[in-house]
This record gives sequence, structure tokens and C-alpha cells, in this order.
Amino acid sequence: MNTQNSHELFARAQGLMPGGVNSPVRAFKSVGGEPFFVHRADGAYLYDVDGNRYIDYVGSWGPMIVGHNHPAVLDAVLRTARDGLSFGTPNPLEVTMAETIARLAPACEMVRMVNSGTEATLSAIRLARGATGRARIVKFEGCYHGHGDSFLVKAGSGALTFGVPTSPGVPKALADLTLTLSYNDFEGATALFDECGDDIAGLIVEPVVGNANCLPPRDGYLQHLRDLCTRHGALLIFDEVMTGFRVALGGAQARYGVTPDLSTFGKIIGGGMPVGAYGGRADLMRQIAPSGPIYQAGTLSGNPVAMAAGLAMLELIQAPNFHADLERRTNALCDGLEAAAGEAGVPLTTQRVGGMFGLFFSDEKVDTYAQAVACDTAAFNRFFHAMLQRGVYLAPSAFEAGFMSSAHDDDVIHATLVAAREAFREAKA
Ligand code: PMP
Repeated sequence: MNTQNSHELFARAQGLMPGGVNSPVRAFKSVGGEPFFVHRADGAYLYDVDGNRYIDYVGSWGPMIVGHNHPAVLDAVLRTARDGLSFGTPNPLEVTMAETIARLAPACEMVRMVNSGTEATLSAIRLARGATGRARIVKFEGCYHGHGDSFLVKAGSGALTFGVPTSPGVPKALADLTLTLSYNDFEGATALFDECGDDIAGLIVEPVVGNANCLPPRDGYLQHLRDLCTRHGALLIFDEVMTGFRVALGGAQARYGVTPDLSTFGKIIGGGMPVGAYGGRADLMRQIAPSGPIYQAGTLSGNPVAMAAGLAMLELIQAPNFHADLERRTNALCDGLEAAAGEAGVPLTTQRVGGMFGLFFSDEKVDTYAQAVACDTAAFNRFFHAMLQRGVYLAPSAFEAGFMSSAHDDDVIHATLVAAREAFREAKA
């Protein structure tokens, strides 16, 4: 595969941008090698600057649930852009967006639009702290909530000890306020709330973890978290930046029937434009400026072009059976990959939830972060490159979920599995 043009662009980029990229995981550091540069995308495919085509299971890291460059989304963007790119006043599409979110995710009685998932989560924890008058927050090992200071923290020597910054620049004093739990561990969560539940402003969780591969909740786990938060007056925050509108039309909160106090969204909600949102109980959301004292603002928030893209996307995914069909495709892919790995004698298990999935190079079912970390990362990296050589682009890290789209038809899945049969054999140590 010729990647000369990508190689030259990456060489130029590295002198000008940290690591040659504008977001770290794009640089292929965890799988090795160099990223390819894309100039066009359509349906299930990416086209790079050297003329190579890839079946894409990253989908711009989640938004592209109807495939790339969907004509309805593109049309909405172009039509809206003709009337101006940004007004800095209220615009009607913001109201339609808030109504749409409130209808699809009824726990969001009120909504605030922002420009990224990061903004959504850091605003949500500010609200949790402001509303409860408490300072501590709880998160889970392996969950990613964007790059807000309070989230770039790992557990100290135990969940009950002070958090430790995972990035220079995060003050120790702030990290001290973040407590870290193991996802899917019932007793750990109970013990932590028994110890200091009344100091906790909020618990934030990816209801299906998509940043440690793909880890679904054990039966009753989300309800357990709900109950602990309710008992101790802490707010339950579902970070649905990845799962929202993907694991079900109403997100993980609909799929698992657990109602959070606050929710955060991103990705799909912007249709590929830079958008995030947070929402929840009206009594909480009213505490945000200007109706309340907790400050949060944004020059481009609710941008009309971004709202148009997101609304067009949300319209498309409300088609009858959209999510059932997406899930069927995800299952066909994952069943096929497990069979292909089995034929090649490569240990592989998968997890799938609606339109997201995880590949684990392991013999056993994986649903905890510790198990995900124990998988054979080197085997994943070999498989990743073997697939890339055959024109199939998986997330360039063993710890990222894969994303299905409605543009991945049976032919695309079949072509993926043909590539996978060879790739598993090649990737075998
Ligand atoms: N929350 C989750 C669950 C995410 O997966 C991400 C990004 N992948 C974020 C928050 C941050 O979103 P953004 O990159 O738009 O800031």
C-alpha cells in the first residue's frame, strides 16, 4: 500500500503540531507506525491522500452512525450555512435541538448546548458541585470523560485515598477531590459511599465503557450506582458522549432503564460538527447561568450550522428499527470475527452493545478494566496493522470501542470478514 503522501504530510505536521496531530490517539502511538491522512469520506469508507480506500470502524470516533457524508446531513449543513455561520444571538434551531433531546432522553428536562464532550462533562461536574455544595467527585478507572483537570486523575493506593494526577499541569489539590472506583465492582462502590458518600457531589460514569475497549454494565450495576447516589444525596451523571443515541435511541439510560440526574452528550448529537450538550433535572439545570448562579457560557454554543447537522442526524436515527438493524450488523460483524479468529486459532472474545463493540484478544469474557488491560495488546496491534494493510481501519488502540454505522451493509461486513480471516492468521504470533 502506497502511503507516501501521508508520510510527507506527517513529517511536515510533526514540526508544527505536538506529535503531528490535534488529538493524541490519532498519532498511532499505541499501535505503532504512522497515521494516514484522509481527504474524503463517504458511507462506510475513508479515502486517504494516496488514493487508498478503507472500511472505517472508527466513524470519526462515534458521530458517523449513518455513515460518512450522509446527503441529508450535508444538505442541512449547506442550507443553514447560506444564512450565516454564527449569530451570537439565540436561534430557532437551538430550541428544536433542546426539544429533541428532551423527547429522546426524557431525564433531560432541560439542556445546555456546548462545543465538545469535554465541555459537557466539566460543566456537569461544576453543576454537581455547585448544586450539592460538596467538592468530591467519583469516577471509574478506564472511563474517559474528556481532558478536564478533575478527570485526568487515577486512584491512589486504594479507592479511598486521594487521587493522583495522570497529567502534569493538574494540581494535586484538585486531584485529591477525585475518587476512583473499579467499574462493575458492586462492593467497591458500596464501601466508598459508606466511607464518604455524604462528601460526594457526583458520580460520573460511562454507562457502557467505551474508553477501555467496550465494557457493558453487569446486571443491576447501574441501578446499584443510582441507589448509592440517591441514598447519599450525590448526583448520578451518565456520560453518554459515546453511548448516547448509539446503544439505543434514548442512550444507555433507556437501554438499561436507569435514570441519571445529569447526562452528557457529544459526537452523534453534532452530526460530525463540534457539539456537546449536558442536561438533566430541571431543578438542577435552572441553577446554571443566567437563570442561576453556576457559571458556564460559550461564544459558539448552539451554533446554527452545528445544530442543523445534529438535528438532521437525530432525524435519520429515528427511522423505524434503525437501532435494531444497527445491532444486527454489529452482531454479524462480531460473530464473524469470533469465527474467523477461531479458525485461525487466535483467542478472541467480543462485547457488543447496540452500535458499539469491543475486540478482546483473550479466552475469557471481559467486563472489567483489569481484564481489559490484561488482554494481548501486542496481538491486537498486529491484527490492527494486518487489517489496515487490507483496507480495514479499526480504532488505532486496543482500548477504544469500535463503531458500526447504517452504511456498513452486508457486503461491507462480508469484505471485512474476508480481510479478517487473513489478518488473524498473519497476526498469530
Ligand atoms: N466522554 C466520553 C465518554 C468520550 O468518549 C469522550 C471522547 N471520546 C469525551 C467525553 C470527550 O469528548 P470530546 O473529545 O468531544 O471533548
